[in-house]
Parts: sequence; C-alpha cells; structure tokens
Amino acid sequence: MSATMDRDRRICVVGAGPAGLSAAWHLQRLGYRRVTVLERNARGGGKCHSIIHEGRPYEFGAIDTLLGYEDVFEIARSVGAKLVANQRAGAYDPETKRSISILSAVFRHQSPLKVLAATVRYFYEMFKGRQVLKPGFAGVNKDLAKPFQHWIQENKLTPIQNAFILPVVACGYGRYDEISAAYVLKYMGIWNLLSCILGGLFGNWPKQFLLGFQDLWSRVAARLPDVRLNSRIMEISRKASISIRLQNESTQAGELLEFDSLILACPLDPVSLHFMDLRTEEKEMFGKIRYDKYFASLCHCPGIKGGFFLAELPVPTIGHPWGIIKQWPKNDLCVFYSPATPSTTADEILRFIQEDAKKNLRGKIQLIQQVEWDYFPHVTPEEFAGGYYDRLEALQGTNNTWFAGGLLNFETVATTVTYSKELVTKWFGT
Ligand SMILES: Cc1cc2nc3c(=O)[nH]c(=O)nc-3n(C[C@H](O)[C@H](O)[C@H](O)COP(=O)(O)OP(=O)(O)OC[C@H]3O[C@@H](n4cnc5c(N)ncnc54)[C@H](O)[C@@H]3O)c2cc1C
Repeated sequence: MSATMDRDRRICVVGAGPAGLSAAWHLQRLGYRRVTVLERNARGGGKCHSIIHEGRPYEFGAIDTLLGYEDVFEIARSVGAKLVANQRAGAYDPETKRSISILSAVFRHQSPLKVLAATVRYFYEMFKGRQVLKPGFAGVNKDLAKPFQHWIQENKLTPIQNAFILPVVACGYGRYDEISAAYVLKYMGIWNLLSCILGGLFGNWPKQFLLGFQDLWSRVAARLPDVRLNSRIMEISRKASISIRLQNESTQAGELLEFDSLILACPLDPVSLHFMDLRTEEKEMFGKIRYDKYFASLCHCPGIKGGFFLAELPVPTIGHPWGIIKQWPKNDLCVFYSPATPSTTADEILRFIQEDAKKNLRGKIQLIQQVEWDYFPHVTPEEFAGGYYDRLEALQGTNNTWFAGGLLNFETVATTVTYSKELVTKWFGT
C-alpha cells in the first residue's frame, strides 16, 4: 500500500450495483475526483431492481433491510431515501390453509425452554467465531467452513434450526447441507437476528424503501460525477495503466479509456469476465464460483386483498414459490419468489405458481413480468475449508485490481456495501 494515494488517481469501478456504487460513493467521500463507474445495463442498482408498474414500485430483487444495515442506512440518510415497515408478515400453513405468525410456524412443536437455551448457545458460538462478522471471510475459524447442517448438529442447535429456513433456504441461499456455516453466521449476525425476532413480535422489522430499493441506488448514482450506463466492455488490458475498450449500447459509439486502478464489482466468474486479461490465479480462483438460480414473477392475482408478505413453511420443493409479497393493498398485484435448480425454466416457474395459486387463491393468475437471476456467488464448503478466502484476499491490489460484491462478504446489500466501504478505506484511505 502506498503512503498516500493521489486523489487525482483515475479509478474505474465496473458494475453499478450496491457494491460498485457504494465503493464509488466512499471514494468520492475520501476526495477522489476521477472515479468512473461503468454499468452494462440501462439502469443502476444491480439486483436491487424495482419495477415501476402503474406508478408503484415492485421489488424483483432486494426487498428488506434489517437492523444490521447501518452502512446502507448511512448512505440512505445522505441521499434522503425513506424507509417504511409496511408488510404484515405471516406464514402460510398448508394444514389449515391459513396465515399464522412466522414465529409460531418456525418454532411449532419446540419447547420454549429448549429454543431459549439454543438461542443463547448460538450467540455464544457467534461470539467465539466473531471474526466472521468483520468484512470478508479471510482468517475465519475453519470450523465455520463446514456445512451449516453439521455445524448446527455439532453445537446442539437443532431447536432453532427452523429459524434460518426462511432467511436462508427460502431466500435462495441453498440448503443447510450445501453452504458453509460462516455464510449463515455472517448474514444472521446479532443485529439481523434480533430484528427478525422483533419483527416477529412487533411487526416493526424488516423495513423496505418507500420508493423501492433501486431508488436508493439511483439517488446515489445521481450524486456521483461519472456513472456510464449501457457500457459494454469489449476489452480490459492491464499493463502500465489499465486500458478499457468499450461500446455504448445505445449509441454504438466506441471509446478507449485509461485508468490507474480498477475495482471489479460485477460477477467475477471467468465467463462473465471474458473481456479481461485474467491471470492464471485469478482464472483458477474465479472458476470456482457457483451461483444459484432464482426467479421473481409479478402477477395479477384476482380477488387477493390487503398488503402482506406470506411465506410457505415448511418450504415447498424447489421451483415452487416460497413467498408472495403483496406490497400495495389497493390493487391485486403480487410478486412471487421462487428458488430454482439450474435446469428450471421460466415456463415451469409460472406453471408452479399457477398450480399453487389454484389451491390457495381464487381466480386465474396472470403473469406481468418475470426476472431470472444468477444469485448468491459462493464457493463450496470444501473450497472454503481449503483457504479459498485467504487466497482471494491476498489477490486484492495485485495488478492495481480490487474485487468487491457478494462473493467477498456474502450476498446481501448490507454485507456488500460494508465490504466496499472497508475495501476503499483500507486501500484508498491514506
Ligand atoms: C430476488 C432477490 C431478493 C433479494 N432480497 C434481498 C433482501 O431482501 N435484502 C438484501 O439485503 N439483499 C437481497 N438480495 C441480494 C442483493 O440484491 C445483492 O446482494 C446485492 O444486489 C449485491 O450487490 P452487488 O453490487 O454485489 O451485485 P449486483 O447487485 O448483482 O450488481 C452487479 C452490477 O454489475 C453489473 N455488471 C455485470 N456485468 C457487467 C459488465 N461486464 N460491465 C459492467 N457492469 C456489469 C450488473 O448489471 C449489475 O448492475 C436479493 C437478491 C435477489 C435476486
């Protein structure tokens, strides 16, 4: 790291999702004047994607914020993006076909004393492995690399294991036996877990952005000096300086830009970075990234009333929607959220929604719009245990290149924003 970074340094951030825009935001705060953000799409926000339909926002990507989102709230306060807690949350009980409270669905058939004792043990284990709450995963206790399922059993936490089904399995972060415990602990840290409990009791959490999550990032982008949408990167080559050849998707105009530093806040797998002169180690590391597929579908649901978030517990088989959000009470539009396998098609997702709706709703469901995501960049527990994240962090800064986003610190808005803030402070803060 150099003694003092020149504030005239030309910095390119690739990707205008939460990771890229928050990195650019913090660089600007540190006094960097020549920061350019390149975004492939015609909009910023990445997986914070709110579709405006008949004047109202519907969330196709990120929806909720929890108590641990302080770095997001700090940015939101600066740009005047307002939060609300307007979703009455419940769980659909397939036995009685009624909505019950999430807490009673999660802890049914469990003794309250055992739940309490296991919760205390969970916080104790988290305290022991508290390194996991810091940005990144380097140096995390290797015990936390093991699958969450094993970790739960070893630590006698089965009375509270259902508490994580909704935020983890249903939210598309994989099955307990597939993902490292460290991912879950990072996500379900003390503040986030506390807000889930408070939300279950008082309905005051989670909170959503009044004008949609994407609106937050549009406000941030509007305050940055150089965010270029529709930028198709044709080539990145890193020699004495970093040359980026790009084409504007709407005008087709080509351009060659030169930078001193590069922050990649876009998908890092080698297929996504096909335009880049990846070094052998980068290729090898990024070749190990996995994603999960996930669909969000906005539909007309005749006869459905009120405003709510409804989850199905136990979680249905993969492909079926696990949750519905009806954001606005005065119309009949709902967004269905469906984790999927790599081979699940959009048509199958719609068929599952219609089949399930036939059982639970009146009237015929009509699709308005559907979005498919490659979601949750992560590595297997074996790779995690083999020191993947220590090697990944050691790559930061080589060839004047840095990496940010969901892979580095888990796939939520809060964790990606916190990581970007830390990255910029550590490497560009002097
Ligand atoms: C359905 C769903 C629900 C979710 N719910 C929540 C939630 O409730 N709360 C929460 O905190 N998180 C939630 N998330 C996760 C959250 O949205 C992500 O963790 C977050 O958006 C990750 O930010 P990122 O910047 O790392 O990546 P992204 O948001 O994916 O942004 C990456 C950006 O890079 C751009 N890009 C890609 N390739 C290129 C290229 N070649 N050149 C230029 N730009 C490129 C993309 O277009 C995109 O804008 C949800 C996600 C989904 C899909």
